[in-house]
Amino acid sequence: MNSVLQCLSNTRALHDYILREEYTADINTTTSAMKGALIKAFGALMCDLWKRSDEPDRVLTTAPFKSQIQRFAPRFMGYQQQDAQEFLRYLLEGLHEDVNRVTSRPKPITTDIDDSLSASQKSMEAWKRFLRLENSKFVDLFVGQLKSTLRCTVCGHASVTFDPFWDLSLPIPSRSGQVRLQACFDLFTKEEVLDGDEKPTCSKCQKRQKCTKSFSIQKFPRILVVHLKRFSPQERFRGKLNTTVDFSVNGLDLSPYSAGQAPCRYNLYGVANHSGTLFSGHYTAYCRHPYTAEWYEYNDSRVHVMNQRNVNSGEAYVLFFELAGSTHV
Ligand SMILES: [Zn+2]
Repeated sequence: MNSVLQCLSNTRALHDYILREEYTADINTTTSAMKGALIKAFGALMCDLWKRSDEPDRVLTTAPFKSQIQRFAPRFMGYQQQDAQEFLRYLLEGLHEDVNRVTSRPKPITTDIDDSLSASQKSMEAWKRFLRLENSKFVDLFVGQLKSTLRCTVCGHASVTFDPFWDLSLPIPSRSGQVRLQACFDLFTKEEVLDGDEKPTCSKCQKRQKCTKSFSIQKFPRILVVHLKRFSPQERFRGKLNTTVDFSVNGLDLSPYSAGQAPCRYNLYGVANHSGTLFSGHYTAYCRHPYTAEWYEYNDSRVHVMNQRNVNSGEAYVLFFELAGSTHV
């Protein structure tokens, strides 16, 4: 929990939204299950973290925040090891719900998106439908859109769908040694063949055919969260992947994975690290200060300045990137 909170706390746009108290005007007291209690607890914790810099050696308790989290997601009760990415997803979706601008549930749209539309029109329609239900500062910042293309190998017909994502879970192409982060993106977007029992139904042939499936990124979020699948279900019995995933801190270019033309260079500002094994491990965070750009290592109650060179380690688990040039937007 601490490693994820430190990464969120150093997310500049979120830091500003919370510390300038802009969120108070957005609190959703109708459709949100928590009626604003989670965002208020988060806001109080962020203010505590940032506003009392006169006591530099102070250690904060996260207990009031944790009790709100447990009301919202009882599975995070207790102190056993939890997965940082699962926790982050719960937290972001819970915070989003508390400031969702959609305050009464609109009628669901039951019709499919018109198949004769162009890919970009379909993408816009899918995004519009998503925003009808889910629209908040958290969506503005964290949610992107993934394009998936299913192509029939017999008639060539391509069926394209668009889905929102809060983070990208990337497979790691090697069990050990060192790989580049780009190799994880390559594997994630690599064309996959669906054959045999997996054959999908081609809407043009009207029958099950061998198809290829691939992903690309249609809409890049301002904050991109990348989760490295060190504990994927297939690997669960084989333990954790300790592969070092090599990434550069600045200027990650994701244009090879883009479905469109929009600029997509990212700078890293936060890393949740996992050390140890699947069953007993420890989380720390490396974060770049949103204003001084200095890097810090957060290890529960201990915080140290660190060298940017050491940010890239074999323990990186969840990476937080900011779209380059978006800081002052
Ligand atoms: Zn077909």
